[in-house]
Amino acid sequence: MKELNRLEQDYFYLRYLANKKAPKQCELLKELKITKKQLEKLKDTFDEFHTQYKQYYNENRKKLFKDPVKFMNWFTDQNNKCGYCGITSKELKQIAKDRGTTDKPNLTLNGKTKRSKGTLEIERTDSKEEYSLNNVILACPLCNNAKSNLIDEDGWKDFFVCAMKSYYKRLLSKNEQSNNSIGETI
Ligand SMILES: [Zn+2]
Repeated sequence: MKELNRLEQDYFYLRYLANKKAPKQCELLKELKITKKQLEKLKDTFDEFHTQYKQYYNENRKKLFKDPVKFMNWFTDQNNKCGYCGITSKELKQIAKDRGTTDKPNLTLNGKTKRSKGTLEIERTDSKEEYSLNNVILACPLCNNAKSNLIDEDGWKDFFVCAMKSYYKRLLSKNEQSNNSIGETI
């Protein structure tokens, strides 16, 4: 994403910062004094940002979303994987599918819906500090849940990441084995 121009900044303000609810199309057209076509183009610019905004925005994290360019740079740097153990969102989805079903993936062992999709989460590396792009990484639900606010970043990396990697390796190889055996039976 490039730097925002004036119109994009105004759109961003109205759409994401001024209201909790997204303004209606007619309101945006009126406020920005633009055509429908121009509005569509602005929407396109924010498409990727919007996906992440919907996924991760909450009141506490407000600050992270203040500058969409900076947010998207941070997001791209995260490379769709856990900043601690390195598991990718694709691998997490595979594990969720394996634990649940293809139609109804579920990462949790008891079928509860919270964390069931195995989505990467925004985690503060230093839980004493507030949310800022310098203090957050994407983390997998297992690292985030286990580290919690009880283990500091260095402690987690030094003592537990290695174990988490081995655990994931086992989960993923089990999945590979069962896929292979299906292949063999056929
Ligand atoms: Zn992890």
